[in-house]
Amino acid sequence: MSDFPKIRHEMEYVCTKCQKHHGIDNLLYTCPDCGGVLLLNDLEFEKYKEKSGKEWQKLFDERRATNCHALKGIFRFYELMAPVLEEEDILYLGDGHSPIVEASKALKEKLKLNFAFKHEGQNPSASFKDRGMAGAFSYLKAMVRKHKWDNVLTICASTGDTSAAAALYGAYVGDPIKTVVLLPEGKVTPQQLSQPLGSGATVLQIPGVFDDCMKVVEYLANNYRVALLNSKNSWRILGQESYAYEVAQEYRWQLQNKALFVPIGNAGNITAIMSGLIKMKKLDIIDALPRLFGVQSHHADPVYQYYNQPKETRSYKPVEVKASVAQAAMIGNPVSFPRVQKLVAEYEALGGDFNVIQVTEQEIMDAMILANMHGHISCTQGGECLAGLIKAKNLGKITDEFAILDATAHALKFSGFQEMYFSGNFPSEFGVTPKENLQNKPHTIIDKEKKQTLSKEEYTKQCAENIAKFMNLLSK
Ligand SMILES: *Cc1c(COP(=O)(O)O)cnc(C)c1O
Ligand SMILES: [Zn+2]
Repeated sequence: MSDFPKIRHEMEYVCTKCQKHHGIDNLLYTCPDCGGVLLLNDLEFEKYKEKSGKEWQKLFDERRATNCHALKGIFRFYELMAPVLEEEDILYLGDGHSPIVEASKALKEKLKLNFAFKHEGQNPSASFKDRGMAGAFSYLKAMVRKHKWDNVLTICASTGDTSAAAALYGAYVGDPIKTVVLLPEGKVTPQQLSQPLGSGATVLQIPGVFDDCMKVVEYLANNYRVALLNSKNSWRILGQESYAYEVAQEYRWQLQNKALFVPIGNAGNITAIMSGLIKMKKLDIIDALPRLFGVQSHHADPVYQYYNQPKETRSYKPVEVKASVAQAAMIGNPVSFPRVQKLVAEYEALGGDFNVIQVTEQEIMDAMILANMHGHISCTQGGECLAGLIKAKNLGKITDEFAILDATAHALKFSGFQEMYFSGNFPSEFGVTPKENLQNKPHTIIDKEKKQTLSKEEYTKQCAENIAKFMNLLSK
């Protein structure tokens, strides 16, 4: 018999602007009445209070041992996410359960900070976007089954990782789903470009930045029959809530005196994490809400600019982005900003604390390289989180809290920035000057001309002797 839960709840879209509710039988991205962004709401959530927080903890802890394929990934927390999906609809490609790795002793001592990275780069397409895609594609599969659709075109705009994840999950599902991704030409890394190409997606590009691509796919989603896979799609938000559930479970549901640092781009991830934390708090699954810190680069910081104003007179303005190494978060007008506003109010009403920290491009690069030189695999956005933690400490906004930093993708996706730093070739618009003690370069031990003059045996010996000299090796 399957371990898959029997429970099914009724869910609806709720508009963040006019508060109207809409049924989930249709693919909706924005409110048909006012155009506002949507969130998904479990109409029967209150019923969950019949179980105690302890009972919920036990259920999720026991589920760690399940053999049920559908519950092995992000859907370990099925009840809190999408209790409308059937087992056969759920996709699992190895998403979720990314490791939380404590900062090395030396790194903690150097920075006088106590923290860990959650390495989201260990998801199947090497970023947290897989969590959202597992959510969105599982719902899409349910829709295909129900409506017997024979042709579904999915589309997304991307700063790189969304398209990598969409193409991967789309390729796995196959017929009748076809995947199209739209990228800002030259604004995604070569690794990120290779991913959707390798998964067989149709890859389209236009000059401009992410915000331009987003407007194009929104136009398409409004006027044509396509399934939008950007985080406007609320099923992605639900999938990404799993990050919060995993952090809580890892720390035995004790989040008092913890601080979560999350980079903000389109603000889908911070929305999801906040939503997950709120649900757990309402059900007494966690002891307390952790302190929550969004982090933005000074080259793309609309959310920081908003929350940095006095509460009474805050006004939101999109910003024009400048070149950023945190390229996956280089967004001037985050789609999920209204969701953030709504959830921050709720978070604070429940006693939670929300902050946004601004960091420089220089601080991001220095922090990423420092972390990786201490055994981490952080991307630039993870570096942004560490820079944010250092800044928060310097500003007196954090004291003895244990921090969990979201390293949102694998370092390899962003190795080009590391290469620019190491070789001293950073374009000036980034405003990054490499620090010599953080640079690393390959050393050529013997040149080609010399090689030609030597026999094979001599060549081996000469190379070894050169290395011994270069490294000051002692003879045995
Ligand atoms: C998408 C992405 C972000 C930004 O997340 P949002 O949900 O858009 O705020 C940060 N880092 C990486 C690696 C990403 O792919
Ligand atoms: Zn509305």
